[in-house]
Amino acid sequence: MSTTSPDPYAELAPLRHHEPLARWTTLRIGGAADYFFEPQKPEHLAALLDRLEADAVPFRLLGGGANVLAPDGGVRGAVVHSGGMRRIFREDNCLRLWPGVTNPQLVRSASELGLSGVERLIGVPGHVGGSLAMNAGSADWGLWDQVREVTVWQPGGTLQALSREQVGPLYRDGNLGQAVVLEALIELEAQDPAQVRQRAEDFLRRKNSCQPVTLPSAGCAFRNPPGKHAGQLLDAAGLKGLAVGQAVVSERHANFIVNRGGASAAEIRALLEQMESAVFAAHGLRLRRELVVWPEPAAVCGDNN
Ligand SMILES: Cc1cc2nc3c(=O)[nH]c(=O)nc-3n(C[C@H](O)[C@H](O)[C@H](O)COP(=O)(O)OP(=O)(O)OC[C@H]3O[C@@H](n4cnc5c(N)ncnc54)[C@H](O)[C@@H]3O)c2cc1C
Repeated sequence: MSTTSPDPYAELAPLRHHEPLARWTTLRIGGAADYFFEPQKPEHLAALLDRLEADAVPFRLLGGGANVLAPDGGVRGAVVHSGGMRRIFREDNCLRLWPGVTNPQLVRSASELGLSGVERLIGVPGHVGGSLAMNAGSADWGLWDQVREVTVWQPGGTLQALSREQVGPLYRDGNLGQAVVLEALIELEAQDPAQVRQRAEDFLRRKNSCQPVTLPSAGCAFRNPPGKHAGQLLDAAGLKGLAVGQAVVSERHANFIVNRGGASAAEIRALLEQMESAVFAAHGLRLRRELVVWPEPAAVCGDNN
């Protein structure tokens, strides 16, 4: 694929060359992707992935960029962004979702329709595809709890409809492997719209009272170990305020790394390592990262994790 030839992918998706990823991640970090595609329909997404695979162009999926640390050196190959695919279709008490539906859009639509089940996503930035990849939600609930079926693209070009049981999602991990979400069917419960809206507002108020929301971040850096809270372990290890350059452990919530202005991916990676070492030294526990760290370009790329 050459940057000077006419765009051979034009019928599948709008393409930008050398697109800075810092524009598309909530941490506001990341160098340029060689190719940045925004397909407008799930069938175009599937055809684009077939084409990239056939042309041996490595690619990564990007939703709201709310859980990704994009590399300072950018991405050699393609980033495929789901933001152009935002449609929601009602089917009785179910909603069929395209992968670029944003979580706030989903919560708003469901509450207007009087459908309860996704209120806890109200303060969780991101898109449905990325949120299924992460099984986003709260300590005791994840988006997969509502899923009846997802349609995915698999490497090799196979399209599959998979049930929740077939995928086997885990805590903060959709267990999707290399599969790309094209569409999801979620099951909700009919309730009074005012009550659904009220519940969503309560969740948002609680979240905003304990999480830093004014500085760029990617939410929790680490998953909670079984029966414990990563934030409490990090706090007890005295990490609030620890900084590497412009990357800082939030004073408000020790599991949030915030970018106080101009932080680099290298600074975030160094801070993650310091946090991991400090928790291991203090508690003998190895934390698992929730933040998805894309490697710098010199490293091997081509998967979606
Ligand atoms: C202020 C703040 C608060 C947050 N609070 C929470 C919270 O309470 N609970 C929580 O769980 N998370 C939270 N997060 C993290 C983040 O919002 C979630 O992980 C969110 O679901 C990420 O979705 P995304 O679309 O931004 O995914 P991205 O960050 O774009 O991508 C995440 C992963 O999904 C993959 N991916 C993207 N699209 C697809 C697709 N279509 N098919 C397959 N894989 C795909 C990417 O390649 C990547 O591996 C918070 C983040 C912020 C900034």
